[in-house]
Amino acid sequence: MQIAVGGCLAQKDQGAIVEKAPWVDVVFGTHNMGSLPVLLERARHNREAQVEILESLEVFPSTLPTKRESAYAAWVSISVGCNNTCTFCIVPSLRGKEKDRRPGDILAEVQALVDDGAIEVTLLGQNVNSYGVEFGDRQAFGKLLRAMGEIDGLERVRFTSPHPAAFTDDVIAAMAETPNVMPSLHMPLQSGSDGILKAMRRSYRSARFLGILDRVRERMPDAAITTDIIVGFPGETEDDFADTLRVVEQSRFSSAFTFQYSIRPGTPAATMEGQLPKEVVQERYDRLIALQERISLEENRAQIGRTVEVLVAAGEGKKDAETHRPSGRAEDNRLVHFALPAGVEEPRPGDVVTVRVTSAAPHFLIADSAVAPVAADSDRLFAVRRTRAGDAWDRRQAESCGVPASAPAATGGAPRAVGLGMPTVRPL
Ligand code: SF4
Repeated sequence: MQIAVGGCLAQKDQGAIVEKAPWVDVVFGTHNMGSLPVLLERARHNREAQVEILESLEVFPSTLPTKRESAYAAWVSISVGCNNTCTFCIVPSLRGKEKDRRPGDILAEVQALVDDGAIEVTLLGQNVNSYGVEFGDRQAFGKLLRAMGEIDGLERVRFTSPHPAAFTDDVIAAMAETPNVMPSLHMPLQSGSDGILKAMRRSYRSARFLGILDRVRERMPDAAITTDIIVGFPGETEDDFADTLRVVEQSRFSSAFTFQYSIRPGTPAATMEGQLPKEVVQERYDRLIALQERISLEENRAQIGRTVEVLVAAGEGKKDAETHRPSGRAEDNRLVHFALPAGVEEPRPGDVVTVRVTSAAPHFLIADSAVAPVAADSDRLFAVRRTRAGDAWDRRQAESCGVPASAPAATGGAPRAVGLGMPTVRPL
């Protein structure tokens, strides 16, 4: 076995890692993931730890052999790095300027994933909707979304995370007009105060942010919108925080990832005046959580009675065994726990079930329509669509038990290496 440590922290603490953990074979940075196989081989040959950090990415490492955790869903990187300079973020100094992957490479990877059984793909980038800035096409992200719509067998497309400053109407149109782009959007707000957004060097203001949400909902009324918010940024006053609460109230997020600001060494915000005491940050954070929990519950309750298509997931519901409800994600990415009719075989991860929402909590929906209709006069509802992704999951299970499994027909029976996720090490 060999051990490699990579990423932002490895890049920052490179010397310390081999000093503190002499059993580590390779330390690599964010710009040279593509060199990993060579570094591992060199470490093995020289019997010595290899530390290699590049200052900038020369080419996007599109050809790494990879392994993906899920048979039915995959993450596909479309860009790395970021041209923004948010003052709380370490990415610009560690990951460098944005590098965009060529559209042809992305589409080839997605097609290969689909051929391998995936039906859901999430496009990834630090600033995913500024995709194209490197090769000079400001509408490249919208075009890429539309191209996803042309891939046969790809049922669900998502992306994360877009930046509000670069969120243009052609992207909203592409989302609304491409049937396999899902009605969900995760767009970081960070703060509702224009003064704090300025101090964060986030180049949009709250009115623009709210305007984007209005236009998204105009075209996709059922879109579930989620966000990231930082509480207690240096200099945040009670009035600034009240602006955040106001924007959160108006935005009606279905959920939010909330963070208490904490100093990240190496970022401009780390040395700003006005760092807030922990108890002030905690008190504001608690108020924000209470508000968002209320909104999440209200928004989820509004789903009761809706029929939803749920992509069955593995490992999404922590209490599935206890409650006898499998779990998955609705098209809008809400977590749904659903009941099975008596005597029915459990659907496989990757299959799609149609159920009706019967109750709600802030962080999930319950769909017991198979056994308990919403109203006395409504029918019970439960339908399963067995998918290629479910077949792929079956094949993986068989392989993990040591049973040779046939490759999908789309590959002509040949095993296929796909994806740009975690590199795998081939036996030498
Ligand atoms: Fe960091 Fe995102 Fe800001 Fe880029 S846009 S600097 S990745 S927070």
